[in-house]
Amino acid sequence: MDIDGRKLSKKIKDQIKIKVEKLEKKPGLAVVLVGENSASQVYVRNKERACQKVGYYSRKINLPVETTQEELLNLIEELNNDELIHGILVQLPLPNHIDSEKIILTIDPKKDVDGFHALNMGNLLIGKKTIIPCTPKGIIELIKSTGIEISGKNAVVIGRSNIVGKPISLLLMKNNATITICHSKTLDLKKHCLNADIIVAAIGKPNFVTEDMVKKGCVVIDVGINRLDDGSLSGDVDYINVKNNSSYITPVPGGVGPMTIAMLMQNTLECYKEIEKLE
Ligand code: NAD
Repeated sequence: MDIDGRKLSKKIKDQIKIKVEKLEKKPGLAVVLVGENSASQVYVRNKERACQKVGYYSRKINLPVETTQEELLNLIEELNNDELIHGILVQLPLPNHIDSEKIILTIDPKKDVDGFHALNMGNLLIGKKTIIPCTPKGIIELIKSTGIEISGKNAVVIGRSNIVGKPISLLLMKNNATITICHSKTLDLKKHCLNADIIVAAIGKPNFVTEDMVKKGCVVIDVGINRLDDGSLSGDVDYINVKNNSSYITPVPGGVGPMTIAMLMQNTLECYKEIEKLE
């Protein structure tokens, strides 16, 4: 059965909208885009649209690809000090001449809506309350929405990136799953996958997870967004065939993507409350 990320995302955004209507000062999100990466442009547009839907103040800052690291650092400092802005998101990837890590470390950790700052990542690692990266946070919500208990399950995460693989592994562990993290150097990936009650695929390769890798009844979360030659989108999972084996599966599009945006809205509200000292 599909897990409908669009429906769940809409429900969360509707709840946020109701809360925002009662606020005198609006939560503000700044989204910074450097260059003209077409996928990034789509993501930024979707984030802006979501801000409008929930009633946030949103500021899109589109910089030319030649922007220097110094200029970008200065902009981040300005946004750190801007009272209208509660969340700062720098759309990745950045052009090669800019050190992404340095940029992320310059964002005020209180405004780090993506949860990528080392302080927030570190807090996640040691289990302290923190800003959790949007995609992994959304994945946990998607799994919970099925009613399936995460505790005690075998979860296999394919991919070990800082933005998806590592944080989702920590979150699944926090929810008492037993975690196996697989990656490009893993031997016999299929063997690991066949032992999984939950598979999270975050690889970036279309149709990488096939039916023969998935145990009957497995919950399959497909994080991948791959643009195919014909212009269509595909996940990392061979959706049509894996659907037969899985109990629940997220489609692409319409699964993890919309939930990432809903969690961005949620993180922005959490940053707002912290900064404005509400609750
Ligand atoms: P990444 O390139 O940083 O990481 C990919 C991971 O896949 C690596 O850790 C690598 O070890 C692993 N991998 C590569 N080849 C493998 C193989 N043969 N076997 C096992 N593991 C292998 O990518 P990322 O940033 O984690 O993103 C992964 C995918 O998720 C991409 O398609 C990306 O577009 C998508 N994504 C979607 C969202 C969303 O909101 N839906 C958010 C972030 C990323």
